[in-house]
Amino acid sequence: MNQLIHCINCDAVFLKTPFDQEPEYEHTSFLSFPSTKATERDDFKDFMKDHDGHRLEDLTIIEDSCVSDKDYIEPVKVSYFKATNGKENFVVRKFRERIGEPLRYELVAGDYSLTCVSLDVQAREIEKQLIRDFTERPLSKNKVDSFIRLYDHITKTVEVKNLERIPEESSNPLEVYYRMDDVTLMYLLRNCHHIFKGQDYSDIENFISRHKDDGVLLLKAVYKIHVVERPKAEKKSVPSVLPLERKKVKEMV
Ligand SMILES: [Zn+2]
Repeated sequence: MNQLIHCINCDAVFLKTPFDQEPEYEHTSFLSFPSTKATERDDFKDFMKDHDGHRLEDLTIIEDSCVSDKDYIEPVKVSYFKATNGKENFVVRKFRERIGEPLRYELVAGDYSLTCVSLDVQAREIEKQLIRDFTERPLSKNKVDSFIRLYDHITKTVEVKNLERIPEESSNPLEVYYRMDDVTLMYLLRNCHHIFKGQDYSDIENFISRHKDDGVLLLKAVYKIHVVERPKAEKKSVPSVLPLERKKVKEMV
C-alpha cells in the first residue's frame, strides 16, 4: 500500500511504495556485468532520518485525481494529483527530469483545475475519410471543405460539459474526445441539405451515421492544467514533536 507522508516543518513529501527498499543495481560498464553491484537502498529510512524530530502527517491521496501534461506512456513528464490531511487540500507535483532518475514529489498548498482551451473537429481525418469512402462518386474539394467548415461552425455552439466523453480514444490525458450529441447531429444533417443534393445527401447521411462513433467525427478537446497555489499564511513556527509523537514516528521507521 502506498503511503504519502508530509513533513510539516519542511513541506517535503515522500511516497512510500513497496519499491523503496529494493536494491539499486549499478553498472560500472555496459559490458562488465560481473562487476554490477547491488547497493542497498532504503529511501524511506533516508527520508525519516532527514526529517528526524520534525512533525509528520499522513496525507490521503484523492482517487482518480491524477493528471499529467504528456502521453500516458511518456516516462519523463510532470503529473499532479490531489491529497488531503482532512483539513487542508494539497496538490502533489510528481516529476523526473531524465529517464532513469527516481520520481520526485513536491507539495503545493492549493488545488488544480482543468480548463478546456479548444474544442475542434478533426479536419484532416474527416477529409481523408471522405476521400476513402467516396471512391466511386468522389466529392469535389469544395464540398469536402464546406462540410468540414459546417461541422466546425456547429461545434462552436456546443458546450463541452454537455458532451459524452470517449475515454479510450486518447493517449494523452489533456486531449479528450467527445461524441457529438443528438441535437448537434440533427442540426448537422439538416444543414447538409445546403451543400449536398440527391444521392450526395444520402451518401453524406450514411457517412455521418457510420462515423459518428468511430473516431473520425469525434470532437477533440484540449485541456490545460491550472495549479492555484493558496497564498501562504505567515508560517507558524511548527513546534518540535512531543515525546509521545516521536515514539510514534520511530515506530513508523
Ligand atoms: Zn522536515
